[in-house]
Amino acid sequence: MSSERVRKPFKACTKCKLLVHHEVDKCPNCGSDTFTDEWSGVAIIVDPEKSEVARMLGISRPGRYAIRIK
Ligand SMILES: [Zn+2]
Repeated sequence: MSSERVRKPFKACTKCKLLVHHEVDKCPNCGSDTFTDEWSGVAIIVDPEKSEVARMLGISRPGRYAIRIK
């Protein structure tokens, strides 16, 4: 393989942890424009009211979220 740095397919909103594509410049969830590549773990929340992970992470809307942000 090349020496190119492996890039994550998504970046994470530092406010609400929502994962979005790199070309997105504003979080569709909370409106923040601060993102980070330093995240790990993915939680796909389908039904936040029934999801323990969603409660743990403080997520109230369905979507794909980072579990940990540096
Ligand atoms: Zn956000």
